[in-house]
Amino acid sequence: MKDQLRQLPQIEAMLAYPAIQAVVEAYSRDEAVAELRLALAGLRNAITKGDTVQLPDFAGDAFADALRVSIDQARRLNLRPVVNATGIIIHTNLGRARLAPQAIQAMHDVGANASNLELNLITGKRGSRYDHAEALICDLTGAEAALIVNNCAAAVVLSLMGTAMGRTVVASRGELIEIGGSFRLPDVIVQSGATLREVGATNKTRLSDYADAIDDDTAVLLKSHTSNFKIIGFTSAPDRHDLAKLAKDRNLILMEDLGSGVLIDLSPYGMTDEPVVGDILKAGVDVVMFSGDKLLGGPQAGIIAGKADVIAKLRSHPLLRALRIDKLSLAALEATLRLYRAPHDPFKTIPVLRMLSEPLADVQARASLLAVQLDGVATVSVVPSAAYVGGGSLPQQDLQSYSVSISCPDMTADTLADALRRAHVPIIGRIHQAQVLLDMRTVADAELPLIVDAIGQAISQ
Ligand SMILES: *Cc1c(COP(=O)(O)O)cnc(C)c1O
Repeated sequence: MKDQLRQLPQIEAMLAYPAIQAVVEAYSRDEAVAELRLALAGLRNAITKGDTVQLPDFAGDAFADALRVSIDQARRLNLRPVVNATGIIIHTNLGRARLAPQAIQAMHDVGANASNLELNLITGKRGSRYDHAEALICDLTGAEAALIVNNCAAAVVLSLMGTAMGRTVVASRGELIEIGGSFRLPDVIVQSGATLREVGATNKTRLSDYADAIDDDTAVLLKSHTSNFKIIGFTSAPDRHDLAKLAKDRNLILMEDLGSGVLIDLSPYGMTDEPVVGDILKAGVDVVMFSGDKLLGGPQAGIIAGKADVIAKLRSHPLLRALRIDKLSLAALEATLRLYRAPHDPFKTIPVLRMLSEPLADVQARASLLAVQLDGVATVSVVPSAAYVGGGSLPQQDLQSYSVSISCPDMTADTLADALRRAHVPIIGRIHQAQVLLDMRTVADAELPLIVDAIGQAISQ
């Protein structure tokens, strides 16, 4: 072991080898030194651990080539595109909604240039960033007013801070959700400076439970969309109309945290559980909060829509500044919202909606196309599978889909999945019954060559 440690060359000596000198000239001394340090540390570690280590020829071309590859890799951005072949359309770990080309163009234009972000072009006076998309949101939801913040979590916090600080919020026990990332509604209510008054039981809450809990301190009745789980069986919750009437009679604000927030009816595609924002407002809910990057199909954003007097109060809240949306997201959001309007068909132009509404036969055709391209490279078959909307929406509702099931000789499914994840453009699939499944509902035609490449790379390793 000592022997091998002694055979590890000094960095200075390595830099003098002609092959490594050439790498320094092609890249830079700093990068070469950094990667050589890493390589030596790895070898030293392995030797010290007692592994059998085959030392490379440090002066040879193969070692220099490997050094080039590691510098190339170190130069790449950490945050980069992957192929989502999980079948989960809105996958939070994979960046949620993919944006429409129009939204990307808008981000590009506003990012590369100065913009009228806070300038009113008509009056020449200071304008508000919140004005650019407000009318569109009102038009699409029937709301009197709207406000856009950083994300839906921020929308919930701001809405509660602005209306219920120092007062009481009444919410049903069955709706006190945790969204993930330790965002728990009961904690958020408390952090907003309000007191939570839980009513009802986990599975059942009656209108009278709400009514009995109301007192002089009550400011808000809060509903939340239990988006990431479902209680089935012996359940009930009061109708929104009845809750709205109760809130109105007692001079309270009825709020609803929708999470996903759907702007158009998805029931033609079999999705009946996700309420449309406009219908909820019509039922009498005063204010709703929803995400920009879930079923809406846009960038990260939190939208608060509803009664003008409540929105006006939130708009003047001192902490709005800390939660405000940035100009790139705002540009993408406005562009995405416009795709819900003529002359566009949102089911064709917004990727999230296109994926969930794509005819099964088209998904199957994509799977067959990939299978043909992989013929002779790996063992493949086209199999029916279940895709999901994801993003905490419709947890129970699976979408019929097709996947390509892949196996390679001498590779376990885990090894293959690891190799695909480490490919130049990573491919993220899932493992089912010891096979790697690539679901074609979340993959675009243009991504098929990336998958073929990645499998080629995986096999040649
Ligand atoms: C996802 C979700 C949120 C949080 O939305 P973000 O935009 O991720 O902050 C809040 N409430 C519900 C019900 C959700 O599903």
